[in-house]
Amino acid sequence: MKRLICVFLAAVLLCGCAPADDRVQQTVFCMDTVMDLQVWGEGADAAVEQVASLLRSLESTWSVTDASSALNQDTLSVADRELLSCAEAMRQRTGGTFDPQLRGVMEQWGFYTKEYRVPTADQISQGLTAHQWDLGAVIKGYAGQLAAQELEKLGAQWAILNLGGNVQTYGSKPDGTPWQIAIQDPKGGEYLGVVSVYGTKSVVTSGDYQRYFEENGVRYHHILDPETGYPADAGLSAVTVICGDGFTADALSTALFVMGLEEGTALWRESDDFEAVFVLTTGEVYATEGAALSGCEYEVICRED
Ligand code: AMP
Ligand code: MG
Repeated sequence: MKRLICVFLAAVLLCGCAPADDRVQQTVFCMDTVMDLQVWGEGADAAVEQVASLLRSLESTWSVTDASSALNQDTLSVADRELLSCAEAMRQRTGGTFDPQLRGVMEQWGFYTKEYRVPTADQISQGLTAHQWDLGAVIKGYAGQLAAQELEKLGAQWAILNLGGNVQTYGSKPDGTPWQIAIQDPKGGEYLGVVSVYGTKSVVTSGDYQRYFEENGVRYHHILDPETGYPADAGLSAVTVICGDGFTADALSTALFVMGLEEGTALWRESDDFEAVFVLTTGEVYATEGAALSGCEYEVICRED
C-alpha cells in the first residue's frame, strides 16, 4: 500500500504591506498540524503566548487521539458541551453532510493512527452506528474564532493566524489594504488564487489533498460522506469558505465538500453568512459573488440563477 500523508500548509499568507517592525511571530505544532501565529502591536508578545496556550488547551479538551483528553475521559465542561450542541445544530443546517459523530468510521479507515486500510462494508456500518464525537471538522475554525476574541480582549492591533490551512484574520491593517490569503492549488501548483478580506474573518479550506492515502491507484481522503462512510465524491477537490465566524466557516467547508457544487450553491443562496470558492476535480473554479477571489479564472455564482 502506498501511504501518503500531507502535513499541509494549506494556505500561503500574503500579508501585503503590514509593517514587520512590531510583529511577533510564533510557529506552534498543535492539533497534528503546523500553525503560524503573527500578531502586531503593543502587547503582541503576551498575545501570541496566550493564543498558543489557548490552542493547546483546545487540543487537550477535544483530541480524539490523546487518551487523556477531556473528550476521551468524559470530563467535558458545561461550556464544552455547548459546542456539541452547536455541532448538532450545524448537522441540521447542512442536511447531515456535516456529521460531528464520525469517529467510529474514521477509526475504521485508520485516519487517526495513520495505519490506513479500506474497511469492509461491515466495518463501515459498525463505524457509522457508533455515533461517537469527532469535532475535527470544526475545532481549528473554532480555535481561530476564540483566538480573535482573546486578541481583542488583550488589545492586540491586528493579527493573522494560519492554523494549518484555516486562516483567521483579526483587525484591519492600518494602511487600509485587505488581508490577502492565497488558496492552495489542489493540483500542487504554487497557489490557485487569492482571497481578499477586511477585518476579522475566517478563511477555511477543506480539500481532498490535505490528508489521504492511496491503495491500488485509488485515493482515499479524510472527508467522509456520512451517508456512505466512504470519502465524499461530489466532484470537488477543495472548498474554501469565508465567514465572520470560524466555527461556521470550518463546518461549512466540510459540509460543502460533501454536498458538491450544486447543493452547496443552493445552501449559499439560502444563507447570508458566508461566501465560498469551489474547486472542481476537473480544475474549474466557481466562486460566490462576494468571495473577492483574484488571480485565477473562475465562474461567478450569483444570488439569482
Ligand atoms: P475538514 O478538514 O475541516 O474538512 O475536516 C475533516 C475532519 O473532520 C476529518 O479529519 C474528520 O476528523 C472529520 N470529518 C470527516 N468527514 C466529516 C463530515 N462529513 N462531517 C464532519 N466531520 C467530518
Ligand atoms: Mg472543516
